[in-house]
Amino acid sequence: MKVVVIASYVSELIFRVPRLMRPGETQAGAFREGLGGKGFNMTIAAGRCGAEVLPVMKLGTDAYAAKATDFLRSEGISCDHVNQAAVGVPSGCGVILVGDDGENAIAIDPGANALLDESDIGAAQSHIASASVVLAQLECPVAAVLGAFRLARAAGVMTVLNPAPAPTVPLPDELLALTDVITPNESEAAALTGYGVDGDWRVAARRLQSMGPGAVAITLGSRGVGLLHGAMELHLPAPTVDAIDTSGAGDAFNGALVARLASGHTLEQACLFAVRYAAIQVTRRGTSSAMPWGREVP
Ligand code: ADP
Repeated sequence: MKVVVIASYVSELIFRVPRLMRPGETQAGAFREGLGGKGFNMTIAAGRCGAEVLPVMKLGTDAYAAKATDFLRSEGISCDHVNQAAVGVPSGCGVILVGDDGENAIAIDPGANALLDESDIGAAQSHIASASVVLAQLECPVAAVLGAFRLARAAGVMTVLNPAPAPTVPLPDELLALTDVITPNESEAAALTGYGVDGDWRVAARRLQSMGPGAVAITLGSRGVGLLHGAMELHLPAPTVDAIDTSGAGDAFNGALVARLASGHTLEQACLFAVRYAAIQVTRRGTSSAMPWGREVP
């Protein structure tokens, strides 16, 4: 049942303000703090879906690092491969301004995430080789993800890549060749292939499959997920829900997906579960703290 997540962590400092400020303007707002980052959210989701999950992650030496590890431990998740960067390096952090009209403005410092390197991956080699699935995303350096996928492939371990945030330069061919399942959302699929998925997700999915991955699962927001697995194409609709906050929806999907794959379900079964799981997550406010428990999925 073991899942290794090549994980990122980002503290979320969220201010709700009447409207986004003009340069030089100050406004009073309501402050809320969250623990996030794609890899962190996926780790919590996979754990809550019953997987034994091991994040390989780098934090700073600030107070946020302790909050992140405290939360992981409270979820029963091992911090053996949650490493600290040198003194003075901040943990990943994002300041998020949200206006009452829903508009937002975000500033992010990747901080320690940018320092996750091949030595961190090498130290987790035995866990990667004995895992059922290795999951990665792109808030960590591509070199670290590539190193992890090389070890996974050499050991016959399944690899799942969530190519988010959308890469601004083409991904290495080798990384795509080492990926068993790729899980972009619509804009990431378009960025990777040059094909929009507004009309038909299948065109982008086939193009992406031709770049290396054996299976492509494109998440389509409220429309669910489009799955291309070998020659089989399947659209799995999401249940209709009252969505109030879709941040972390893709992370919920990926965490649930790998937990189900690790417990021996087929990719189709795992996608069906993950699409329902993520639809529950969007009915709650927040990211990691809003991850449902696997048993909540009907
Ligand atoms: P991302 O957060 O990466 O942009 P998506 O928006 O594609 O990812 O959403 C991922 C998954 O979350 C979807 O496949 C679906 O299961 C669920 N989801 C997202 N938005 C909604 C919604 N409005 N209603 C129901 N499910 C949703």
